Amino acid sequence: ATPGPAHPLPRVIAIANQKGGVGKTTTTVNLGASLAEMGLRTLLVDLDPQGNASTGLGIENRGLEHSMYHVLMHDEPLENVIEPTDVKNLFVAPASLDLAGAEIELVPAFSREQRLKRAIEAVLDDYDYVLIDCPPSLGLLTVNGLAAAREVLVPIQCEYYALEGLGQLLRNVDLVKRNLNPDLEVSTILCVMYDARTKLAAQVVDEVREHFGDKVLRSVIPRTVRLSEAPSFGQPINTFDSKSRGALAYRDAAKEVHHDAT
Ligand code: ADP
Ligand code: MG
Repeated sequence: ATPGPAHPLPRVIAIANQKGGVGKTTTTVNLGASLAEMGLRTLLVDLDPQGNASTGLGIENRGLEHSMYHVLMHDEPLENVIEPTDVKNLFVAPASLDLAGAEIELVPAFSREQRLKRAIEAVLDDYDYVLIDCPPSLGLLTVNGLAAAREVLVPIQCEYYALEGLGQLLRNVDLVKRNLNPDLEVSTILCVMYDARTKLAAQVVDEVREHFGDKVLRSVIPRTVRLSEAPSFGQPINTFDSKSRGALAYRDAAKEVHHDAT
């Protein structure tokens, strides 16, 4: 094992990448479920107005009276929106489409970048892990995610142009670090959607490792249909198909992530 830096519990990790469709939500849900299976109390904060992390865990999020929108815009305590899931130790703070409005409504708001941080601080004692599923943009929602986190986990798709655009994310992380959150660091890179049949995928993983070194988890998440099917059944892969390759890979990744915790 690489003697990475120790990360004290509770850990707050933003799952971020400004590209859409790169596996942020899939990683948040299945890494979160795997940590929960290990007995670690885990809260998923859904910061994407699409609400895919919420629906992917079986939460009916249409017309929710209390959701992340109300937490960010109306000072609703996070505690009031958190719901249990079918997985023991796994909880979710759901989002619905109204959260899209927050991106604009937050602009003139007081302490607009720190709202999520404050909300999470009030519940942090109850959890070992808080995973924040960021939207595919670098707007105020993602800034709230980065300001609230200590660590950033970046899922990288093992495909062409994987590293393209990452510079923009890293610059934003740096901006938030300098202006709002001095402790923030990109702690973890996870290679996802790995297709073992293509030479390209292996090349991308090599390139990512060259670039990010020890931050890259040894576990690589395969591209599998089962992982893409699970959300429509409202389940993480852990319960949807417990012995599938995707489930095993996310469990391995979770063990590696937790290995660095103190
Ligand atoms: P993001 O949150 O970054 O937009 P998602 O996690 O929603 O990305 O993934 C985008 C799409 O790819 C979804 O349909 C998801 O089910 C699918 N997907 C994600 N990871 C995998 C994988 N390892 N294998 C197959 N399909 C995947
Ligand atoms: Mg998503």
